[in-house]
Amino acid sequence: MDFYETLGVKRDASADDIRKAYRKLARKHHPDLNPGDKAAEDRFKKVQEAYDVLSDAKKKQIYDQVGFYSENGMPGGGPRGAGGPNMGFGGFDFSDLFTRGAGAHPSGGQTKAGEGNFQDIFSQWFGRSHEPSGQTPQKGTDLEYGLNIDFWQAIRGTQVRLSISRQETCPVCNGTGARAGANTVCPECNGSGNVTQMAGAMRFSLTCPRCEGTGRLGNRCSNCHGDGRVSKTETVDVRIPPGAQQGSRLRVPGKGNAGTFGAPAGDLYITVRVDPHPFFRRDGDDIEITVPVRIDEAGLGTKIEVPTIDGRALLKIPQGTKNGQKFRLREKGVLNARTGKRGDQIVEVSIEAPVVQDERTKELLREYAGLHPEDPRSEIWNKV
Ligand SMILES: [Zn+2]
Ligand SMILES: [Zn+2]
Repeated sequence: MDFYETLGVKRDASADDIRKAYRKLARKHHPDLNPGDKAAEDRFKKVQEAYDVLSDAKKKQIYDQVGFYSENGMPGGGPRGAGGPNMGFGGFDFSDLFTRGAGAHPSGGQTKAGEGNFQDIFSQWFGRSHEPSGQTPQKGTDLEYGLNIDFWQAIRGTQVRLSISRQETCPVCNGTGARAGANTVCPECNGSGNVTQMAGAMRFSLTCPRCEGTGRLGNRCSNCHGDGRVSKTETVDVRIPPGAQQGSRLRVPGKGNAGTFGAPAGDLYITVRVDPHPFFRRDGDDIEITVPVRIDEAGLGTKIEVPTIDGRALLKIPQGTKNGQKFRLREKGVLNARTGKRGDQIVEVSIEAPVVQDERTKELLREYAGLHPEDPRSEIWNKV
């Protein structure tokens, strides 16, 4: 029997494809949905057998290499060493596969006992553990952390201490998930890892629920319950380099979740969010600021003081400066730690009309109007 053929997948099918194909076929041929149909039962068992091997990386490897897989008599004693459980089914929630009607499966895949149907058997066997705790080493997953810093911290750089909740390699079993010492033969299956279950006229060989197929008892690490990892809150010191920008992403290698069975840990990614400043705006490494300028300053020209991230700087306002005009202060922007260069500061001028209350100012403005009777909108009229 070719397991790939049984599941109707190609030999290079991904684990996901295999799982999908299995789900589909298992649903179709499930004996509960084909009562009394011996052929369906037989197909169901074949599908189950194929998936049992192809969903387990170690078994699959052996199958791919030697062309068959047998629980007993594999060279070197087979893959069933001490260690993690060896579930016959890959990691998904059985409740979604075998849900038939309302009430049959309350949440969590648990069923009411004593109904004597298939669901009971499956939930009984598999309801407890949905995770394929897999003995295959798998790299730990990455963690994401959003960090808020203020404008000045972003510019000058900062050091922050984060409290990260991550999965860490279990210190008791060093990530193996196994407990040293205690290692007795499982009385339920006499060490075979399989039990036979009767359901009506049908017999099933299922992974032993007591030892979860290991054939041994008491060899799970009590600290991590066989997972090899435990949750831990850890403080991580992170240095945010000067010039960090909104959305900058920093990687802290190895501070993601621990891998399983000796595989490397994932990474921690910190996404920086920079709080806005009331006056300074960031545009990459440039700083932008809008400064109010009086009508006489703009008209006559002058030198004004403007704030920069280093303190005050002098800016020349030329005669006849227009509203909205921009001036560049070179290298007064943000120092970029990566390039070692500083951006510029861009100063935008906002010309403010005077608030006139006294007679003298009014007089001066009327006099000014008399000297400049031209229509400031003449250019518009020319083009409309
Ligand atoms: Zn452990
Ligand atoms: Zn057992």
